[in-house]
Amino acid sequence: MARKPKPEKVDVCIIGAGASGGTAAKVLTESGVNVVALERGPYRKKESFGGDELANVNRYNLWPDPILNPRTYRGSNDEEPREELFCPVPQMVGGGTVHWQGWLPRFTENDFRLKTVAGEVPGTTLVDWPISYEDLEPYYTKVEWAFGVSGQAGANKYESPRSKGYPTPPMPTTNYARKFHEGCNELGYDSFPTPMAALSEPYNGRPATALSAFAQQHGDPTGTRSSALSVWVPQALVTGRYDLRPDCYVHEITTDEHGRAKSAIYQDADGDFIEQEAAVFMLGCGAVESARLLLLSRSGRFPNGLANGSDLVGRNATFHEYSAAVGVFDDPIHAWAGGGYVAASSFEFYEHDDSRGFVGGSHIAAAGVGIPLPINWSLPDRPAWGAEAKRMDREYYDHSFAVGMVLHDMPQHDNRVELDDTVEDAWGLPVARITLNPHENDLAMGRWVIDRNAEILDAAGATKTYRVYPERVTGNCSHQHSTTRMGDDPDTSVLNRYCQAHEVDNLFVVDGGPFPTATGANPTLTIMANAWRVAEHVVRQRGSGRATTTAGKGA
Ligand SMILES: Cc1cc2nc3c(=O)[nH]c(=O)nc-3n(C[C@H](O)[C@H](O)[C@H](O)COP(=O)(O)OP(=O)(O)OC[C@H]3O[C@@H](n4cnc5c(N)ncnc54)[C@H](O)[C@@H]3O)c2cc1C
Repeated sequence: MARKPKPEKVDVCIIGAGASGGTAAKVLTESGVNVVALERGPYRKKESFGGDELANVNRYNLWPDPILNPRTYRGSNDEEPREELFCPVPQMVGGGTVHWQGWLPRFTENDFRLKTVAGEVPGTTLVDWPISYEDLEPYYTKVEWAFGVSGQAGANKYESPRSKGYPTPPMPTTNYARKFHEGCNELGYDSFPTPMAALSEPYNGRPATALSAFAQQHGDPTGTRSSALSVWVPQALVTGRYDLRPDCYVHEITTDEHGRAKSAIYQDADGDFIEQEAAVFMLGCGAVESARLLLLSRSGRFPNGLANGSDLVGRNATFHEYSAAVGVFDDPIHAWAGGGYVAASSFEFYEHDDSRGFVGGSHIAAAGVGIPLPINWSLPDRPAWGAEAKRMDREYYDHSFAVGMVLHDMPQHDNRVELDDTVEDAWGLPVARITLNPHENDLAMGRWVIDRNAEILDAAGATKTYRVYPERVTGNCSHQHSTTRMGDDPDTSVLNRYCQAHEVDNLFVVDGGPFPTATGANPTLTIMANAWRVAEHVVRQRGSGRATTTAGKGA
């Protein structure tokens, strides 16, 4: 068989076609820049999605298959790592947004300066961000309007100033969202409709989002939700400047004699190795896989991995943790309806408050149970099988809902992503090994917030509540950040404030890796806003359509 020809050098090569890579692709291509996107997963179209809960939730139709893509986890450096699919995110065009929940709150001003607000936290590497809310605000607005986010400006009294409202009003209120508002109201807490990656009415040539109970963890057969797959990718493709290559797994970034990134070596669907050269590389693989790719890209000049002279690539990893209080009610709640695409939130416990005895705070929100069938539903005291299990399903499944929290876990130097040289994936590469020991602040926050969530359920009329305290960080909400911190000092950060590697000036990271701290809110609106900011910076530095010269350093 003839050898495949080496593709031509391109302006920008983006690795990953998920939330961040998709945003960057849209902005770059619409600015006249030619982009090649290398995405390890398939390009699945909406026609291939459906509501098969066993396949989607339990059988890796959409989740990464742990046999092909294992990860290892240990609770501390002394523990033996064990295989565990820690913090999985779908690997396909669209990335995590293909079957996400779609809650898109903004971070607040204090998220960018928590160390200044709360002070040192012993045992952590808490820092302020090198950028402020004001720096990101215009990009929040751009994403909300281009992506399509439903919400109500001003409804969250703790929200930081915004320059514009949402393109469409909030999604219709569900029964469980109403109960949550009632509980908060009873206790004097502020609550608001959760901003959603969905359209409550037709907008920008798109129809309103079709509501379905098969939402979170299920792909969208209607293509009407806002996702990288249904919004960013088509917008980039229509420019004719987006060369999207699915099923292309990047194994390494090579460097030239000047130490600049030269090419991405990837394996395509036929198993062939291809070299793609580019003037600029952007990593949008998710914070775990971007760190892993940098660590895999070892060379004589970068023996510890690309851009890792500081030994900080992979360190300070944060993942949030999703935990909840669950309430049981006499009246039916129908919490399976809405599939997560309709919810209600509160930032009442979001801002730091010294009197609580821990640093930081958490976004809390009403959430359905089951997704949506009872096969993945349970209460903590429900037996696994038998007549009692059936009784509890019958009596409680339609009568319960959760108030969940996003745990703001503190960054710590030894919580990290490394290469596990004893376990390989199906392509023969060392897998990501996660070492993660929660800080006492994380556990204290988890206990305190879950107690408040239970009180909200009580106030909403629950006859019984369960408090599920987070005991460890498992990455169960698929949020990942901080493995390639941005900062002004190359000794304490991997990237500068434009997410450009301090050591490799034509290399950028645009996923959650640059976040210096996790914050207590869902990260993806901020990931996309930041990717937009970085892409504009690259365009500015290089001149529209001429992304072939040296990027300015940290301007
Ligand atoms: C069930 C679920 C619910 C969620 N709900 C929410 C929510 O309500 N709100 C919220 O803010 N976030 C939510 N998230 C998280 C959200 O999906 C992620 O934060 C977001 O997708 C991260 O964007 P990213 O660009 O960093 O990575 P991704 O979107 O994961 O994209 C990374 C892409 O890179 C590809 N890739 C990785 N390595 C390579 C390689 N070596 N070569 C080529 N390609 C590669 C992957 O295949 C993937 O497609 C949810 C996630 C899940 C799974």
